Amino acid sequence: MNFSDEITNWYNANKRDLPWRNTTDAYTIWLSEIILQQTRVEQGMPYFYRFLERYPNVAAFAAAHEDDILKLWQGLGYYSRGRNMLSTARLVNEQYKGTFPTRYNELIKLKGIGEYTAAAIASFAANEAKAVVDGNVYRVLARYFGISEPINSTKGKKLFQETANSILNMEHAGIHNQAMMELGAIICKPKNPACGICPVNTGCYAFLNNAATQLPVKLKTVKVRERYLNYFLITDGDKILMKKRGMGDIWANMYDMPLIETSEMLTPHEVLQLSEAIEYFGTDAEILEVSGPVKHMLTHQRLKVNFIKIDSKKIKLQQEWFYIEVENLKKIAMPQIIFIFLTNIFTFKNNFPFSN
Ligand code: SF4
Repeated sequence: MNFSDEITNWYNANKRDLPWRNTTDAYTIWLSEIILQQTRVEQGMPYFYRFLERYPNVAAFAAAHEDDILKLWQGLGYYSRGRNMLSTARLVNEQYKGTFPTRYNELIKLKGIGEYTAAAIASFAANEAKAVVDGNVYRVLARYFGISEPINSTKGKKLFQETANSILNMEHAGIHNQAMMELGAIICKPKNPACGICPVNTGCYAFLNNAATQLPVKLKTVKVRERYLNYFLITDGDKILMKKRGMGDIWANMYDMPLIETSEMLTPHEVLQLSEAIEYFGTDAEILEVSGPVKHMLTHQRLKVNFIKIDSKKIKLQQEWFYIEVENLKKIAMPQIIFIFLTNIFTFKNNFPFSN
């Protein structure tokens, strides 16, 4: 048996029963693939069901308001995925009359769909002979073939794609791709791969050379950026001051509170003395309560977040600021750290949950 037959037989006997595997509907597959990018299956599953129930087809998705998509996406991170999906759904609804394309060359033109996702949808929905290469596949290929070229180098990406293409089962591309990904997900795991029960261990370079922990190789290129965010909690009766975020930064078009970002960690008193703070809140703002700094990690950013409750008689409302009833907070999409903070304060009546 060749490599593809080995993994396909193993897959048929051992695969997890995941809902998006029981369909060839390209829309449903697209939904699952985007939700599962950078996301564990257990975390993504409830989102997949929620989205499919609320938007059972492209037309329903295309008619959604961006705020509703972001709200439903809340907690999943990488929010640009949700916004890109909305653009794509609208385009598909118009240009393809609501029928999601299934050919690689058409899929690759759509927003938010890269080489991996296009190959996945094309092969799962239409059995098109396109090999997928995602994190799981990189790992299996690097270990099985003993490839030490970094997976995130230009040369490495090309080499891994060529290797994946060379072993693809051209007649059964969909199931072959599923099998490769499943093998990486549940057998050839990043730590402690289950080599003893792996269907391809007899030909595996890493198994035979005890090299699984050294492969795959990845270059460390991205520097983590430190950011200092000072949020202001300002209430007026049963209302709270919020703002809508703009584009071009994290959490685009979501809702948070008035914010002053600083280039270093300052005390709340120092923040209130900044000209930006004086412009917003005047010179007599009184600090009522403080919590933080709370550390919050994003992919390439390390946030240190302070929450400062103030009382000010001279708030100058900015264009994107607005008061909203506390009971209506649940209707708007917020970054998870803001959502947790406000939920603790207003639902659990837990004063300043992150206080040191
Ligand atoms: Fe991965 Fe081990 Fe299988 Fe090789 S034998 S492919 S290292 S699980």
